[in-house]
Amino acid sequence: MLSSPFRFCPYCGHELVWKQPNGDHRPRQVCRACDRILYRNPKPCAGAFIVRDGRLLLLRRSIEPYAGWWDLPGGFMEIDETPEETVLREVREETGLEVRLTGLLGFYLDSYGPEYVTLNIYFLAEPVAGEPRPLSEASEVRWFAPDELPQNVAFPSHSRRALADWAGQIQRL
Ligand SMILES: [Zn+2]
Repeated sequence: MLSSPFRFCPYCGHELVWKQPNGDHRPRQVCRACDRILYRNPKPCAGAFIVRDGRLLLLRRSIEPYAGWWDLPGGFMEIDETPEETVLREVREETGLEVRLTGLLGFYLDSYGPEYVTLNIYFLAEPVAGEPRPLSEASEVRWFAPDELPQNVAFPSHSRRALADWAGQIQRL
């Protein structure tokens, strides 16, 4: 059984207890008072592998977690966004770039603190306008060739796999 940091019902504030709902395949936290079930799912995030002349754009985080580490532009999806809208918005907010999405790299699970599992959706993209500059949440932006990617990349338990997949695709071209 997965542990959970949540103790109280988000609807009515009463205590949650673990039990297996009728017909379900696993135990879940259920409210003692209102019987609602606390379903927990990964939180979707969308990010971009922006490539120009074979080099990948990374930005250096200026905020925690992983302040000072390199990161891919991207972030959590808002409730009313598509993944494509999220990634275009995040790239614009973090780098000032307008990009065109050219493909999909893949889907990568990770954890984000004790509360969340993230489902990271990575698009391939190329710049269409602007020169990247560090805006919100970044102190520096830089283009990296596949063989000079930095070691200190934020959220390494999924980003290292995603970077290796990207570098592998580039080398097969
Ligand atoms: Zn409740």
